[in-house]
Amino acid sequence: MLTCREMSELGSDIIESHLSLRTRLAVLMHLRMCSRCKLYIKQLRLTSDVLQRLPFQDETVDSQAILKKLQTPDQ
Ligand SMILES: [Zn+2]
Repeated sequence: MLTCREMSELGSDIIESHLSLRTRLAVLMHLRMCSRCKLYIKQLRLTSDVLQRLPFQDETVDSQAILKKLQTPDQ
């Protein structure tokens, strides 16, 4: 079973579907019982969509870096 911390570490991999089937199942199971992570992934997905629609080139906006920042709100 995944912890909430592991979920936040997986963050961008989850929304970009860079997960093995096994991990994806573990993520889905966690999301079913954890409304906090559900909301977190939802927001991450929304943010990712917005970033992809921005009219910037990869050199000016590092969306991965922004997503990483979002994943560590304590810093
Ligand atoms: Zn959770």
